[in-house]
This record gives sequence, C-alpha cells and structure tokens, in this order.
Amino acid sequence: MAIERTLSIIKPDATRRNLTGKINAKFEEAGLRIVAQRRILLSREQAEAFYAVHKERPFFGGLVSFMTGGPVVVQVLEGEDAVAANRRIMGATNPANAEPGTIRREFAEDIEANSVHGSDSAENAATEIAFFFTPNEIVG
Ligand code: ATP
Ligand code: MG
Repeated sequence: MAIERTLSIIKPDATRRNLTGKINAKFEEAGLRIVAQRRILLSREQAEAFYAVHKERPFFGGLVSFMTGGPVVVQVLEGEDAVAANRRIMGATNPANAEPGTIRREFAEDIEANSVHGSDSAENAATEIAFFFTPNEIVG
C-alpha cells in the first residue's frame, strides 16, 4: 500500500441537502485527508467531458443534467490506498446495494443521485484530478 490521491465529487443531491460537512467527516474519520476542495457549478461541457466514458449509456443525458443542476464540491483526497479506500467509504453505486455505514447507504437518494463520485483507478484518479486542479492548488 502507498499514499495515493483520488478525485472526489460531492454531487448536487448532497449539496442541496447541506450534507457537505457530514460527507467530509466520513472521509476524515476513515483517515483520508482533504488536500484540495472547491465548490463549483459544472458547465454542460465539463460534465459531458468528465463523464465521456459513459456517453453511449442510456443514463448519460440524465446524468449530465443532474450533475449540472446544482453546486458540486470537487476535492482531492489523500491517504493510504486512497482510490480503493474512498470506493469503500462511498459504497455501491446503487444505494440499495451499499453496505451500512457507507456514504451512499446513509445519504444517497437513488442510483443516479448517489451523493458522491470517486475515481475508480489510480490512472483515472490522475486524469480526473488534473481535470479540476493545478498542482499548486493541492496542498498535502
Ligand atoms: P462514480 O463514477 O460517480 O463514482 P460509480 O463509479 O459507482 O460512480 P458509474 O458506473 O461510473 O458508477 O456511473 C457513474 C454515475 O452515473 C453513477 O455514480 C450514477 O450517478 C450514474 N449512474 C450509473 N448507473 C446509472 C443508472 N443505471 N441509472 C441512472 N444513473 C446511473
Ligand atoms: Mg465511475
């Protein structure tokens, strides 16, 4: 295991319900450090580019509308095995399948409005972090 960084997004369903602090507490209690963070509105172009891997999927249009429908908090999390650790803290994509204690089990509304995004590999984490942050905006 090594110290890694991963890209996290607190999604519009969670910012709307004022859950940023409760979600950040889950990361911090699990030992991840928030080393960069910014609250933004995603443009349609940004959301389409960020989720380009899903553009042929039937849920793509809905996902882009959802992600641009309110503020998101983009953040870099740092810690031991951060990519996998964050996926565990988030829980399964569909909150109905998420383990007790995970963010999605506790907070997500449904499979689309599932409160958080987390990079799914170290390689994607590097790409996704660079999508939102310059190196000098990340303070470890
Ligand atoms: P994320 O990429 O947001 O961390 P994930 O890796 O668990 O989540 P993906 O399969 O990459 O899930 O899907 C990206 C996002 O698209 C999901 O988090 C969810 O918001 C939305 N999504 C996925 N599957 C569906 C679906 N069947 N119906 C509606 N929205 C979906
Ligand atoms: Mg994903």
